[in-house]
Amino acid sequence: MSDLNDAMMRNQSFWQYKYGDYSANAPLAAGTHETDVLVIGAGFTGLTCAREIRKDDKTKRVMVIDANDIGFGASGRNGGFNMTLFGVEPEVTLLRWGRERTQEAQAYMQKAVEYVKDLIESEGLDSDYEHTGMLRVAYTDRQVRRLKKTYKLLTDITRPGSFEYYDADEVRKRLSCPHIKGAIFEPGTGILDPSKHVRSLKKLAEREGVEIYENTKVIGISRQDGSSIVKTDVALIRAKKLVIATNAWTHGLKSSPGIASVQAPIWTYQIVTEPLTAEQWAGVNWSERMSIEDNRQFVHYMRITKCGRITMGGGSIGIEYNDKKMDLWKNEDTWRALESHLKWMFPALKDIKVHYKWGGCVSANADMTPEIGFIGDRNIIYSTGCIGHGVSLTQLNGRLIADLVLEKDTPLTKFWIVNRSAIPVPPGAMLRFAGAKLIEGILKAVDFYEEGNLKKQPEDATN
Ligand SMILES: Cc1cc2nc3c(=O)[nH]c(=O)nc-3n(C[C@H](O)[C@H](O)[C@H](O)COP(=O)(O)OP(=O)(O)OC[C@H]3O[C@@H](n4cnc5c(N)ncnc54)[C@H](O)[C@@H]3O)c2cc1C
Repeated sequence: MSDLNDAMMRNQSFWQYKYGDYSANAPLAAGTHETDVLVIGAGFTGLTCAREIRKDDKTKRVMVIDANDIGFGASGRNGGFNMTLFGVEPEVTLLRWGRERTQEAQAYMQKAVEYVKDLIESEGLDSDYEHTGMLRVAYTDRQVRRLKKTYKLLTDITRPGSFEYYDADEVRKRLSCPHIKGAIFEPGTGILDPSKHVRSLKKLAEREGVEIYENTKVIGISRQDGSSIVKTDVALIRAKKLVIATNAWTHGLKSSPGIASVQAPIWTYQIVTEPLTAEQWAGVNWSERMSIEDNRQFVHYMRITKCGRITMGGGSIGIEYNDKKMDLWKNEDTWRALESHLKWMFPALKDIKVHYKWGGCVSANADMTPEIGFIGDRNIIYSTGCIGHGVSLTQLNGRLIADLVLEKDTPLTKFWIVNRSAIPVPPGAMLRFAGAKLIEGILKAVDFYEEGNLKKQPEDATN
């Protein structure tokens, strides 16, 4: 088996494969350990939180442990969109939480994008960051109508200049995709290489004195005399403060008090092409390099990589019946559908080959809204519900959780997702699976209503 196939079969993302060899830190040694703060999960949330705690208080011992290499979770395998979308859709946030909270959430997300950009620039991080802006595109009149409502809402609640509306002619000046009928452009967003970024975050955290142990799986959490007792196969850690940054795996932690109902995992899939030729680049006319999402319920996300390829993800999701298994990362049908959508969007890429395919899981809670919560008392903090929009969110959440750990009252800790008591996901695999499938069915029906037989129409009918 080639290196590439071997990496795909080992469930590495393209970014992890492309980054080359990586030497993980040693696992935590057997025995009993005492720490001020233990962070479980070394993705964007955990690594940021640990770094920020040590930056503020060098007297605290801060340990991070991860069941895998750092960045094995969503943080090392995402699309790399440093974006402002909160939850699923601003309209959903508006409906569930009202205008004031939607506005606060949007401001938090704009701050989050700037937090990531500023960190990369000020620390000179090797994260392949480009502040390109993002296009949200609509293919049909029905999608355009909804897009215009979103545009109105977003411009009403954000600072001037945050969004622009492009009609089909404006889009075509920037992209040779014959199917786009309208778009929102958001200049204040960017793209990065997630695996490079998470590995840069590890270095930054270690520079601040954070101890990181990889391939160290937590098998149980309990409470004793006000401390958390965290067990691995060979070690026991007594921690004054515990941060659970396990994202889509959180439901699987054996914990008392319990945490099984705070979220459920959803899988999303990505492909990346071989490098484009000069002729293909001319054919797609994507010189402004902005990232792109479409305005579907089952959104496609696509962007250019620094190494001259296009990566696309989404379109369909994976829902596991037995979500303790966490092994839905492979989905040939979705990968094929992504390739076909890419070729449909860009006729100039009709002969392009897919180079690499992978999948990963995101954390969804019952009301599709991010949450930072406490278990038992304020000494155990968890963060879940990024719903696939967590590159910027989880890093600012890491800063926010550092404030909570250090018991600081700051503008960040007043953000309403803190201690908001999310609706629990249904108990039991069957109910959870049925609930998720029902929501999936409704969202598919909306896409069908808005798109009809879009892809069966002759090309000129969509112009
Ligand atoms: C394919 C894909 C594409 C995405 N694209 C985007 C995008 O373009 N833009 C965007 O904003 N968001 C995107 N997201 C979402 C974003 O990547 C996540 O929201 C974010 O990375 C979550 O970071 P995290 O640190 O909270 O969790 P994760 O990075 O998932 O980290 C959780 C960690 O916990 C560890 N862990 C789990 N169980 C245990 C245990 N028992 N013991 C110890 N450790 C454990 C895991 O190994 C993992 O490393 C995407 C996600 C995926 C999967």
